[in-house]
Amino acid sequence: MRASQYLLATVKETPSDAETASHQLMIRAGLIRKLATGLYTWLPLGLRVLRKVTEVVREEMDKAGAMEVSMPIVQPAELWLETGRWQTMGPELLRFKDRHDRDFCLGPTHEEVITDLVRNEINSYRQLPANLYQIQTKFRDERRPRFGVMRAREFTMKDAYSFHMNQESLDQTYQVMHATYSAIFSRLGLDFRPVAADSGNIGGNTSHEFHVLADSGEDEIVFSSDGNYAANMEMATGTLPPLPQETSRRAKHEVATGDAHSIEDLCTHLSINATACVKTLVVQGCDAEGEKSGELIALYLRGDQTLNETKTAKLARVFSPLEFADDEVIEATLGCKPGAIGPSSKCAFSYADPSVLGLVNFVCGANKEDTHFIDANWDDETRYDEVADIRCVQEGDISPDGKGTLAVKRGIEVGHIFQLGDKYSAALKATALDENGKSVVMSMGCYGIGVTRVVAACIEQNHDEHGIIWPENIAPYSLVIVQVDAHKSELVRTVSEEIYQLAQGLGIEVLLDDRDKKTSPGVKFADSELIGIPHRLVISPRSLADGVVEYKRRGEADKQLLASETVAGFVSSLAAGENS
Ligand code: ATP
Ligand code: MG
Repeated sequence: MRASQYLLATVKETPSDAETASHQLMIRAGLIRKLATGLYTWLPLGLRVLRKVTEVVREEMDKAGAMEVSMPIVQPAELWLETGRWQTMGPELLRFKDRHDRDFCLGPTHEEVITDLVRNEINSYRQLPANLYQIQTKFRDERRPRFGVMRAREFTMKDAYSFHMNQESLDQTYQVMHATYSAIFSRLGLDFRPVAADSGNIGGNTSHEFHVLADSGEDEIVFSSDGNYAANMEMATGTLPPLPQETSRRAKHEVATGDAHSIEDLCTHLSINATACVKTLVVQGCDAEGEKSGELIALYLRGDQTLNETKTAKLARVFSPLEFADDEVIEATLGCKPGAIGPSSKCAFSYADPSVLGLVNFVCGANKEDTHFIDANWDDETRYDEVADIRCVQEGDISPDGKGTLAVKRGIEVGHIFQLGDKYSAALKATALDENGKSVVMSMGCYGIGVTRVVAACIEQNHDEHGIIWPENIAPYSLVIVQVDAHKSELVRTVSEEIYQLAQGLGIEVLLDDRDKKTSPGVKFADSELIGIPHRLVISPRSLADGVVEYKRRGEADKQLLASETVAGFVSSLAAGENS
C-alpha cells in the first residue's frame, strides 16, 4: 500500500477525553474514530489489526472443533420473555419496537437466540456435544462507556455456546475452551492470566476470566506467589497474617469521639491503628424468597479491611443487589448516625468477617451519637450471628491453598468462560433424546472474547512514548519503507520502488511512505513509530550516496546500516520471518 493513496489518519494532539494510553494511541495512530459515546468507526489501519486478531481467534476456535455461525443482532422480545431476562436485564439491554409495534432488542449476548436455534435443530445425543460460535457485533448500553473500544457500547465479541447431554461432556468442552483461550492469547503475544471468576447473574457455576495484565485495567485480580491459586477480586479468598493480640481482656468503656466518624479520623483521634477497630456496615436484608424484607443486616469487618460486595450480596440473609441502609433508617433503628454504629442486636441478623474474630480489646461504635467503645470484646452483649467471608483480600494475605502469599494486580478482562448448566436450556426447553430415548435438558457452556477490547489491551501492553509497538503477527503492516526527499532524487524513487515491489512479491505486508514533500521526513519517521510498524527501511539521497540503507526495528533504540546490495537479501529474510 502506498501512503500517498491511503487514509493514514494520524494526529499529533492527544485527544482530551482519552485517559488511557491505548485510547490515546488508537485515536492518534488513526485506528479508530468516535461517532458518539461508546460508538467507534474502525479506520483502514485499525481494521487490518482487528481482522488479524479475529483470524487468530477463528483459527483456534475452528481447531477446537467449534462451528462458526452468524446470528442477527436484532432479537425478538419473545425469547427474552421466555428466559425472564426481558424483565431482569437493566437498561443495558437496548429495547425498541418495529413498525408493527413488536418488541425487539439489540443483542448484548446471544444465549436466547442460540438456544432457540439448537432446540429446533438438535434433538438427539448423536448430534452432541456441539459448540457453535460467531464473531459479531454486540450492543450494550453501558452505564459508563470509556477508554475507547475498551468499554464501548457497540463492540465485537467472539461468543461461543456449547451443548451437552451431561456434565461430564460439558466439563470436557470447558477444558478445551480454557486451553483454546490460552492458545489465542499466547499467539497474540499478551501477558495474561486465567482466574477463577464469579459467574454473576448470567447464571451457572464454574467460570474463569482471562485478564491481560495492565495498570490501567478496571479489574483487580489476585494470585498466589507459589501455588496455582488465581481468582478475580470478587471471588478471591485469603487469610490475613495473624497480628499479635493482648492476652487479657479489659472491661469495655465508652469514650467521646466527637466528629471522628470515619475509621481514619477515629484512629487519629484515639491514636490507634485501624487494625484495632471493628467497622460496622448496615445493609438491607431479604426473606427466604430473596425479596427485600425491610430488616437490617449488620456486617463486621476489621477497620483496615474493605467490604467485598459480591461475596456479601450472596449471603442468605442479605438482599441482592447489595443495598446499604439509609442514614435515616440507621438512625431510627440503631439510635445514632452511621459514624458511631457498632455491633448491635437491633439489627435482624449480623455477619462477622473472620478478620474480627481474634480481636481483643478492640474499638467499635457504641450506637450512641459521637461515642465509641474502647476495650470491647466479643461476648454476650457484643456479639454476631454468623461468621462469613465478606472481605476483599489484600496483597500479602496467605493464599487459600496455603502456598505462598497473594499478590493483587490490575487486569483487563479479555475473555470469559462459563458453565451455564441448564439455566437457559431449561427455560427454553432445549432437550435431546438420550440413548434410551429419554428426553434430557441439554447442559450449556458459553465462552466470550472481547475481540475489539483485545486490540486496546494489546496496545496497553505494547507501547512507548513514541507510539504503538505491535507484535509481529497482528501489526497492520510488517514493513514500512520511508522515502526521504524523493522529490529531489530519482534514485530514492527507483530504489524504494524496487524494494517495495520485491517485498510485495515476497508476500510481505508493506507500506511505502511515498507522501510528497508536504510531509517532512520527521513526520514520516514519527508516524511510522506512532503506528508501530515492526520493521522500517529509510531510503534517503544521503545514505544511498554512502551506499547504505537505514534499518530500524520498532521498539529498539539502535539503527542499523545495511549495505545497499544486501537489502534484497535482508527483505527476503524478513519474509522468511528471520528478523522477528
Ligand atoms: P465487563 O465486566 O468488562 O463489563 P462482562 O463480564 O460484562 O465484561 P461478558 O459478558 O463476560 O462481559 O462478555 C465477554 C467479553 O466481552 C468480556 O470478557 C470482554 O472482553 C468483552 N466485553 C464486555 N463488555 C464490553 C464492552 N462494553 N466493550 C468492549 N468489550 C466488552
Ligand atoms: Mg465477564
